[in-house]
Amino acid sequence: MTFKKTDQEYKSELSPIEFEVTRQSATERPFTGKYWDTWVSGIYKCICCGSDLFDSASKFDAGCGWPSFFSSINGAPIAEVKDFTHGMSRTEIRCKNCDAHLGHVFNDGPKPSGQRYCVNSASLKHTPNK
Ligand SMILES: [Zn+2]
Repeated sequence: MTFKKTDQEYKSELSPIEFEVTRQSATERPFTGKYWDTWVSGIYKCICCGSDLFDSASKFDAGCGWPSFFSSINGAPIAEVKDFTHGMSRTEIRCKNCDAHLGHVFNDGPKPSGQRYCVNSASLKHTPNK
């Protein structure tokens, strides 16, 4: 089952930066997104399809200007894809349900996971805990 819509539908529902990041794999400029400095507890969902992706409990300040998490939510629909663009070897993360580009995951995160999910604010929708 897929929740993927047409580009036209996404364009009408998303802001220009949200569309560029999620559907065209752009990267927002650091320290410009909505959530890099957000510390309110809650769940970060996919902006395109609403799937639960990250919990604020795993968010940490990586100093890079993007929301960073040391783990995703258990069972979150996140696909890891090798990315060799820009002359680098990286692991891209995408939403499995709607194929939205989210960001990248690196192996230099804090212990114990050692992972650093570097995610565009534009790919996320934060839902504060009640
Ligand atoms: Zn999605």
